[in-house]
Amino acid sequence: MVFRGQVLALGNDDIAPIHSPTSGTISSISKNKFNFYSGKYFGVIVIKSDGRDAWGHRVFRKNYKDISINTFIKLIYDHGIIGLGGSGFLSSKKIEFSIGKVHTLLINAAESEPYVQSDDCLMQNFYKEIAEGCQIIACILKIESVVIAIEDDKKLAFIKIKNAIKSFPNFKIRKIKNKYPSGSSKQLIKTLFNKEVPLGKRSISLGILIFNVSTIFYIKRAILNSEPLIERIITLSDAQLLYQKNVLVRIGTPISYILSKFNIKNSSIILGGPITGFIIDDLNFPILKTTSSILKFKSDFVENLLELPCIRCTACSKACPMRLLPEQLYFYSKSFDHEKSKRYHINECIECGVCEQVCPSNIPLLTYFKKEKLELKKLEFQNDMSKKFKKLFMLRQRRVHASGLINENIIYSNNVIKEKRNDSIRHKVCESNSFLNSQHIMKIKLESAINRAKLKRNIK
Ligand code: SF4
Ligand code: SF4
Repeated sequence: MVFRGQVLALGNDDIAPIHSPTSGTISSISKNKFNFYSGKYFGVIVIKSDGRDAWGHRVFRKNYKDISINTFIKLIYDHGIIGLGGSGFLSSKKIEFSIGKVHTLLINAAESEPYVQSDDCLMQNFYKEIAEGCQIIACILKIESVVIAIEDDKKLAFIKIKNAIKSFPNFKIRKIKNKYPSGSSKQLIKTLFNKEVPLGKRSISLGILIFNVSTIFYIKRAILNSEPLIERIITLSDAQLLYQKNVLVRIGTPISYILSKFNIKNSSIILGGPITGFIIDDLNFPILKTTSSILKFKSDFVENLLELPCIRCTACSKACPMRLLPEQLYFYSKSFDHEKSKRYHINECIECGVCEQVCPSNIPLLTYFKKEKLELKKLEFQNDMSKKFKKLFMLRQRRVHASGLINENIIYSNNVIKEKRNDSIRHKVCESNSFLNSQHIMKIKLESAINRAKLKRNIK
């Protein structure tokens, strides 16, 4: 039995906890490999709703000014808040990195992609809570100024937000051009402050903490309403714009359910925007925390996108807003040349997909780059782990030597190595706890080897 908002899966350093979107009973827990570019298996928890939608225990707060920074960070993590602009980065970590380093809070209210209208809808309906969210972060992190950037075609949202923040002297609202990818954080900083985020760094290095407007809204809900991230507004649209709706859906809702609710028959679906989203075959795929839209397109769309060889036309390089060389990155990603893809700054790619849009050979460049970035992350993790284990091993060796004892109790039997405590084969290495000199160590190693050999012979 679970309640709405109850933790279903604990998080770790990279993943936020997952909460139950409704009340009911857990009917199954399994692993499923959805058609996803990473090819990863997902843990799937199925909840059979009891129809009551009953909340678990919640603590409402009126005053956020007494909350310490550490409690604030913990609350954001515990409520599963992540970057809703598409990054999925832990918001708690972002705040932790920015303590004492930022003077400006920049709210990115620019829609991430064409067709997507979910942030616009959120601003029109929840403008007061968005202003409150900004105020909470600014107050707790002692931020001097707050800038909210809205695209020039979001007229109603602009007026509502402007009214909501008029009593805060350090809040500003700025209009930006509705031009893709102006909503990417690095582009936004360039447009508003005429500053470039240095290579390999984040906006925090310039004293700017940047959050998507939806993230701010859910931070407010987490702190004051004790509400975890279990739902979000998504845009439901077709490629011809014959209809466009914004719907509030629970995270985890299968796409097939949403489609059936709106009588959408065509099953060719892109999850996310038309540029950075991905095509899904399995309509049981759930709405994720990072899903901002469902786009329906004509089924012949895929056939027209047959991948052809690269003709080195350089159209992708000319279009890249980050001034990267996508055609080179494509060759390195395809040939698993991780060193070169790193040297050509694949990690600076903001995954805007502009290169893919202009490519006359229909090469799914973005998919290659996403895969390669995942691969680099994996390698980095393995590297970190091996360094960590090496360090732990060295520390252990030092401890063993320093304690003056070496356990030589390895028994070889049937090719299986078993460890056994054997107090009789203990060598007193050193009278004191000081480190041994190398000659002494050699002598002990030799003695140990002889003892091991003797022991082995006895066993045989
Ligand atoms: S997706 Fe392509 S165009 Fe966009 S930043 Fe990356 S390489 Fe450049
Ligand atoms: S646009 Fe496509 S075909 Fe042209 S260089 Fe880039 S990857 Fe190659």
